[in-house]
Amino acid sequence: MTAYEIIHSKRSGAALSRDEIAFMVDGYLAGEVADYQMAAFLMAVYFRGMSDRETEDLTRIMLASGIVLDLSRLEGAKVDKHSTGGVGDKLSLVVAPVAAAAGVLVPMISGRGLGHTGGTLDKLESIPGMRTDFAPDAFVRLVEEVGMAIVGQSPEMAPADRKMYALRDVTATVECAPLIVGSILSKKLAAGLDALVLDVKVGRGAFMKQVEEGRTLARLLISTASRLGLRASAVLTKMESPIGRTVGNALEVAESIDALRGSGPDDVRETSLELASRMIVLAGVEPSIEPARRRSEAALDSGDALQVFSQFVEAQGGDPRVVDDPGRLPQAAVTEDVVSDRDGWIVGIDALEIGLASTALGAGRTTVGDEIDPSVGIVISSPTGSEVASGDRLAVIHAETSGRAEQARDRVAAAFRFGGAPPASSPCVIDVLE
Ligand code: URA
Repeated sequence: MTAYEIIHSKRSGAALSRDEIAFMVDGYLAGEVADYQMAAFLMAVYFRGMSDRETEDLTRIMLASGIVLDLSRLEGAKVDKHSTGGVGDKLSLVVAPVAAAAGVLVPMISGRGLGHTGGTLDKLESIPGMRTDFAPDAFVRLVEEVGMAIVGQSPEMAPADRKMYALRDVTATVECAPLIVGSILSKKLAAGLDALVLDVKVGRGAFMKQVEEGRTLARLLISTASRLGLRASAVLTKMESPIGRTVGNALEVAESIDALRGSGPDDVRETSLELASRMIVLAGVEPSIEPARRRSEAALDSGDALQVFSQFVEAQGGDPRVVDDPGRLPQAAVTEDVVSDRDGWIVGIDALEIGLASTALGAGRTTVGDEIDPSVGIVISSPTGSEVASGDRLAVIHAETSGRAEQARDRVAAAFRFGGAPPASSPCVIDVLE
């Protein structure tokens, strides 16, 4: 068996055996399969796909590349939520405390932003002092004490995913269902969870642009998870416009705190409650979605979720005073308005363009090693559905210098789509698959 033969087989559309997939994945991790061979293999999978059996084998092999955390000393169902990636996606910061306040144990393993999408760890680290790198034992203790923790994937967990994901990111092979399934599930299974709620984003700002592509991915995630002993459900959510009003790390933390106070934007509240309710059902805290929904609303509206958030920030070394005083979060040196050059209705805001503009301001990375600026980003002043007149403010750019704000201005302005009438309203949740 050689890497050349395996790449050739997949390029010709053949199904690979478990041994062949293991040869590539294990060999890559051991440095015996070169980057360029793995890149060619990933591209062959991108074009030829994988059967369900191959996807399951890939996931098992990626999982076996590292350790599986032992969460058995935590009493109760351990449920996490994972998003396939979006713009302004701060939902984990709201969902995890709501679910924890409602009685679910939430050991959340999150990622960093790359490309135009943001990452939960980067957002959290904008809170002064906040840490996200905890050894497995400390992670379990945090969940025990607070009911939730959000940390990064440690180097021992699914190392094959870390190495393959970094290569996929620079070889245009991210948007491929079997590779996404192997990547997400290998690290979630390594976290020793009982169940997982998947937020599968579809639209301009997501990896999956079409609803049917998203549905296919969601089905594959659920069926593969089930074959590996992990219960999962998936919520298909809209990712055409940014979620909420803010894009950028500290800005999104402040908006999440608003949402936990009950005053955030409707789409953040609605989608968070839906995801938290699904976690409550999978955890067995409630038997069905209606009581789970009531329980998550009570956790949010009573202030219990905000209190859990504050405890979680403190437990992970962050300054909990940001909860009452978001002014303690990093603030950009410069803010500049983007104004409308016409009258009309805002019928959409291109999430991809806003995500790219925010990344260019320094809120995200273009290469894995880039430093990010926690203070910069974009605040939407006129969301979809607003009526604006020429000269009205569309957005505010938060930047390090006015030069950088200037560079972002045209892109941010061009992201706003205008119409002559208000757009038809569409729900944030497109479908739920179980
Ligand atoms: N999120 C992941 O963790 N992996 C992917 O491949 C895509 C989104």
